[in-house]
Amino acid sequence: MRFFCWFLSLIPVLACGQRQEFFHPQMGTLFQVILYAEDTVQGKAIAQELFDRIDTLNAIFSDYLENSEINRISASAGTGQKIKVSTEMWRLIAVSQRVSRKSDGAFDLSIGPLSKLWRRAFRQTQFPALAEIKTAKEKVNYRFIQRYPLTKKIRLTKAGMRLDAGGIAKGFAVDECFKILRKAGVSSALVAAGGDIRVGAAPPDKAAWTIASKGLNEKGETVDVELSLKREAVSTSGDTYRFLDWEGQRYSHIIDPRTGLGIQHRQFSRLAGPRSTLADALATAINVLKAEDRKILMKKFSRYTLEVYESKD
Ligand code: AMP
Ligand code: MG
Repeated sequence: MRFFCWFLSLIPVLACGQRQEFFHPQMGTLFQVILYAEDTVQGKAIAQELFDRIDTLNAIFSDYLENSEINRISASAGTGQKIKVSTEMWRLIAVSQRVSRKSDGAFDLSIGPLSKLWRRAFRQTQFPALAEIKTAKEKVNYRFIQRYPLTKKIRLTKAGMRLDAGGIAKGFAVDECFKILRKAGVSSALVAAGGDIRVGAAPPDKAAWTIASKGLNEKGETVDVELSLKREAVSTSGDTYRFLDWEGQRYSHIIDPRTGLGIQHRQFSRLAGPRSTLADALATAINVLKAEDRKILMKKFSRYTLEVYESKD
């Protein structure tokens, strides 16, 4: 899985005894972990456990790996087969489908045929043929993903379907890291995967974690801001440097499943709430939706808050 998200840089928290920081490249981004552990040996061991978990999740969710679970499921599309899936996959699909239903399909895990087409368009700097967009679009619909809860099996009903977890997997991985941290008894920690960040309790010597992000000043200009966070997940999405400039128009890597086109409005969204998985998926969905539909969606997720910034450059 390759993501090139707009990256939130982190303002260093003042070091105190046991603050430890680790990095791990995966899922097309750089995972960053800051934790406060009893000693450096324990801290290192926990970080290793987190990174092993992230690697395992990548092997499940990456559509760039030929033998990933997600690609094995996609290969069964249209065959009528029901595929038994891992618990991780089951849970990720469950959240995806919830966001799809609530966003009226703005978020769609079956976006694969379109994202494949647009990835090629980016590589070749060439707008896809309209016929190709149409064909790909016909294979994209979250309703074509059927779930069988008793057996934890999945059936993809349409031939040529392709699942792409790019809009949700990093958030999922961040939440999984927090499960490990909790079990290990670490309460003060930060896990960042590009634009998907979650923090636990504040560092021992601080009231909150300080994170550099973007906001608007009184004149409505985009400026750097500092966010103070604790026990919260924040995901940003949109206005990355992944886009296609074609005949004066800019098409993002976030695709509107209804048009089959990369979205064109220039903005980024910041979603905050208790969990990264949901924040990640919602942030992607929000970029597809128009302002009035965003409000409707956010009302359905009352523990999550949204800020949207239009880019002018
Ligand atoms: P994010 O950076 O979290 O907004 O995710 C963007 C990635 O999600 C893209 O690179 C695609 O892999 C995937 N994606 C694009 N459009 C959608 C969509 N409408 N629904 C779900 N996933 C999408
Ligand atoms: Mg997302």
